[in-house]
Amino acid sequence: MDLTPEHAPYATHDVTNQPPFLAPYDASEDVALLEGLRREGAGWAERDIRRLGTLAGGAEAQEWAELANRHEPELRTHDRYGHRIDEADFHPSWHELMRVAVTEGLAGAPWADDREGAHVARSAGGLVWGHTDAGHGCPTSMTYAAVPALRAQPDLAKVYEPLLTSREYDPGLRVPTEKRGLLAGMGMTEKQGGSDVRTNTTTATPTDEPGVYVLRGHKWFTSAPMCDVFLVLAQAPGGLSCFLVPRILPDGTRNTFRIQRLKEKLGNRSNASCEPEFDNTVAWLVGPEGRGVKTIIEMVNCTRLDCVMMSSALMRKTLVEAGHHARYRSAFGARLLDQPLMRNVLADLALESEAATTLTLRLAGAADRAVRGDAGEAAFRRIATAVGKYWVTKRGPAFTAEALECLGGNGYVEESGMPRHYREAPLLSIWEGSGNVNALDVLRALGKEPQVAEALFGELALARGADARLDAAVTRLKDTLPKATQTGARRLVEQMAITLQASLLVRHAPAAVADAFCATRLGGDWGHAFGTLPDTADLGGILDRALPAGH
Ligand SMILES: Cc1cc2nc3c(=O)[nH]c(=O)nc-3n(C[C@H](O)[C@H](O)[C@H](O)COP(=O)(O)OP(=O)(O)OC[C@H]3O[C@@H](n4cnc5c(N)ncnc54)[C@H](O)[C@@H]3O)c2cc1C
Repeated sequence: MDLTPEHAPYATHDVTNQPPFLAPYDASEDVALLEGLRREGAGWAERDIRRLGTLAGGAEAQEWAELANRHEPELRTHDRYGHRIDEADFHPSWHELMRVAVTEGLAGAPWADDREGAHVARSAGGLVWGHTDAGHGCPTSMTYAAVPALRAQPDLAKVYEPLLTSREYDPGLRVPTEKRGLLAGMGMTEKQGGSDVRTNTTTATPTDEPGVYVLRGHKWFTSAPMCDVFLVLAQAPGGLSCFLVPRILPDGTRNTFRIQRLKEKLGNRSNASCEPEFDNTVAWLVGPEGRGVKTIIEMVNCTRLDCVMMSSALMRKTLVEAGHHARYRSAFGARLLDQPLMRNVLADLALESEAATTLTLRLAGAADRAVRGDAGEAAFRRIATAVGKYWVTKRGPAFTAEALECLGGNGYVEESGMPRHYREAPLLSIWEGSGNVNALDVLRALGKEPQVAEALFGELALARGADARLDAAVTRLKDTLPKATQTGARRLVEQMAITLQASLLVRHAPAAVADAFCATRLGGDWGHAFGTLPDTADLGGILDRALPAGH
């Protein structure tokens, strides 16, 4: 007897009008992403991205994501004989996700890859692999981001960089230099302050050995505690400084890294976030004493880009889910995808998703060119990453909520995966600089580094004359910028972000997308919720591009 779901009928009713499983699907079937990949100089990676997209949308990887979140990591503070071990145990599915991410170069690999566009390829990989689980994006992001910060201490970088850039996932607590690949975390936030790390109270006392200190204190949030090494801020005699803290010391003994507990979090459940305590903990100085923030900011620049990337991935994933549901679900005699108002909602989401994806890849391109010495791109990256981090992550929660609603009641149920994506979204605007902190960082950059405004307006000028609404927005921005205040920072940064996104779409997207984006986000022909595009919007043009029939 055939017992596949379709052939195991209920006695009372038939199951109809429920969509088929989305998986397997191709997460790289995303025109905006593939175009951006080529435009930003990583067209050579397309075959790998497509392979990763197929893997990400496959039933197996989708199940890993679900299981890794259902079976949350568990803390084991002691072994059976009472020794402290301070380990977090993860479900096997987590390790599968990590293995793919590291092997596919989503951790530190681009720093060891001389090809132009290597950092773009990584971001594009994150955009498609982000269709699985966001939680494991945390350690891969921190590992990626630790490399440029570690370079402030060349002797340490020489030893650890080849391991942080390795494509081998080698879990387990062992002497770092004896492993085939390492993961890095970061410890900045303490109980009394996260945004304002100058309030850190953890002390770093120099030992007789140059560059070696011992730490005493705590951190209030340190994610992915199974990492091999951590970049940690602590107060040294010369001021707040950055240190590399290994969990296992070169002689094979455990460094003191006492995990008090794991956080119970709104989302990000596959990942562990802990509260570690340091007591006589060995730490190696990275960069000069007293320059801790300057050193670790190199790391934060990279993780901020990943917040934009992960938010964009969540948008795309939930849009694809919403589109799939609408394609197969009917109500009032017609498919949802054919109902005019649902088309408006999906098209509006599609615009937002494409704007986020396009900006992500532009930022990744800037990062790629900046690390190769392009000063103009470095200036653009400095301001545009903070602008993008503020705005794209701010749009994430509203976006995922709307996409969830497209599935009706099914979207509110855990099995759909939508609640998990929804819970993940606010985190991306909290860590690596919460909304206000990023907005204020934009003001700081504008005040201190005149070249960043020049770089931003240089970028916007590339679209000059293509759309009157965009030209007017750039003029408004030029007027507003000199009057920037802290109170008005969010308003200004929002304006900067939308204008930048519009300029990218005007230059690179089809008219249907660019025109509707400018009409709504710049022209004001829009309501407050998604699904309020004007009647003049070419919904068919937008939807055909965003939701090809295969989805
Ligand atoms: C799941 C999770 C994992 C994390 N993992 C890590 C980790 O691995 N390592 C790590 O170091 N940290 C980690 N963090 C901490 C995170 O980076 C901080 O929570 C974040 O930076 C905010 O700091 P805070 O919580 O101390 O809030 P606060 O700094 O107290 O900020 C509270 C609010 O005030 C706002 N604010 C702050 N300053 C100003 C100002 N001048 N003007 C106006 N508004 C302001 C902020 O935007 C925020 O909205 C994690 C957090 C979470 C939730």
